[in-house]
Amino acid sequence: MHPGPTTAPGGAGSATPAPREVDRPRAMRAVAEFLAAMGEDPERSELRRTPERVTELAVGLFAQAGADLGSALGTPMAITDAESLGQLVVVSEIPFRSLCPHHLLPFEGTVDVTYAPDRRLAGFSRVVRLVEAASQRLQLQERMGEQIAQTLMTVLEPHGVRVRIEASHGCVTMLEHGAASVRMMTTCSRGTLADPESPGSGSGSDADLSGPRAQA
Ligand SMILES: [Zn+2]
Repeated sequence: MHPGPTTAPGGAGSATPAPREVDRPRAMRAVAEFLAAMGEDPERSELRRTPERVTELAVGLFAQAGADLGSALGTPMAITDAESLGQLVVVSEIPFRSLCPHHLLPFEGTVDVTYAPDRRLAGFSRVVRLVEAASQRLQLQERMGEQIAQTLMTVLEPHGVRVRIEASHGCVTMLEHGAASVRMMTTCSRGTLADPESPGSGSGSDADLSGPRAQA
């Protein structure tokens, strides 16, 4: 899943944005410098490989930064009228791990994706890959839900989409005393699955992002 160090830097000529390059030596120097700034000796034995370990961890957490979410979903499958009548597709409990942009602390949890297909279906594994692509970058939970929902609307043009995310945030569990068990739930919905009864989740997001929807 990680972008290999041998990837050509000039590979940006293609139409689809590729994951960004990582400058490992620069990242390792920065970690060593950070340790020194905190008053540590980066050369002492237990810290000697820390810059390398932190960098490899970050490479995984940033693996899909800049990658196009639509291509994670692949080529949709066409469906007939008989197959699509009244069906809901639910892909639930998709695990993810991401990193907040404010503190560089991890947040992790699960995503439930529900959509009401019209003419196109995505393979289950493609929905999992979409969640992976949306999470392996600096991310906010609410924005991740909106990006997943919007990508599904654009690529599959379904009747409706709902994306529910439940996550535990390092920002909350580490920075707020007594909040170790706090989890955050967000729901982002579109089209026929938009829920006007849930203020601050589906309806608010819909208003903000209704412009570009379903224009694939
Ligand atoms: Zn944070």
